[in-house]
Amino acid sequence: MKIGFIGLGNMGGPMATNLAKAGHDVTGFDMAPVDIDGVTMAASGVEAAKGRDVVITMLPNGQILRAVANEIIPAMAKGTAFVDCSTVDVESARDVAKQALDAGLLPVDAPVSGGVGGASGGTLTFMAGGSAEAFAKAEPLFEIMGQKAVHCGDSGAGQAAKICNNMILGITMIGTCEAFALADKLGLDRQKMFDVVSTSSGYSWSMNAYCPAPGVGPQSPADNDYKPGFAAELMLKDLRLSQQAAEAADADTPMGQAATALYEQFVENENGRGMDFSAMLPRFEKRSRG
Ligand code: NAD
Repeated sequence: MKIGFIGLGNMGGPMATNLAKAGHDVTGFDMAPVDIDGVTMAASGVEAAKGRDVVITMLPNGQILRAVANEIIPAMAKGTAFVDCSTVDVESARDVAKQALDAGLLPVDAPVSGGVGGASGGTLTFMAGGSAEAFAKAEPLFEIMGQKAVHCGDSGAGQAAKICNNMILGITMIGTCEAFALADKLGLDRQKMFDVVSTSSGYSWSMNAYCPAPGVGPQSPADNDYKPGFAAELMLKDLRLSQQAAEAADADTPMGQAATALYEQFVENENGRGMDFSAMLPRFEKRSRG
């Protein structure tokens, strides 16, 4: 397949490389000068999108996605799949999908879970929104870049799934970190805490797969001075998207709201920017109740 790939950053770069490695003809574009293994670089987004069977975008946010979509949609031939893998607000995803549909394209919003490691290893999970026809056209590429793709529903459903998942993740990470901080004050050994909780009803991905306590559980960013991994500011971005969606849909999400406020404080006032999102544990360690 001829593939255009726009946004070749930490995630997009390795995803594009995996498509090229699998034998696809990949032309890429990024605002920044980048050199990506196996990818032919174009001079503009329009040049990368023209004459392709599928165009994939992996961009920072909904505003940038809208700007890029305005440029490239008129350049794409009818029947081209337009697959946006960025994490953006549901409204931008739906607006861009409508614009693409009106132009005769096959839009799919397909945000991912799995981070930079999943992008390099080709083990991402895709959560997709769009028509069955659009999903079918993108699915073989999801199989190369990832290990699982779930067709969640119509346009916007992929983004909805992503922000709901990450709202749970933010909440469980905070809960896990505050429980470790409480356990410390109660004199409970961290390894014993892990041994119990990871096999009891308090278990979660945050505890079992990404334990925020250094030296406990499987290797995680906590074992590497909390270098990301998944940066706290990216978690904050996703939590803000969840709260924006909750407000628009009139959904009551008090725990999501509390998690957003805590990550906001951590990132903006407590040097959390650039730290992994599990660095909430040292944050709680330093604080006491009063
Ligand atoms: P990144 O900042 O490394 O990459 C984004 C790229 O887009 C950059 O290279 C930037 O130069 C490029 N770009 C910006 N504006 C552009 C434009 N107008 N035209 C062309 N290129 C443009 O970010 P990332 O970590 O690769 O994340 C990309 C998306 O994936 C985000 O929406 C993020 O929320 C999501 N995501 C990231 C992770 C992660 O762990 N990094 C995990 C899941 C989802």
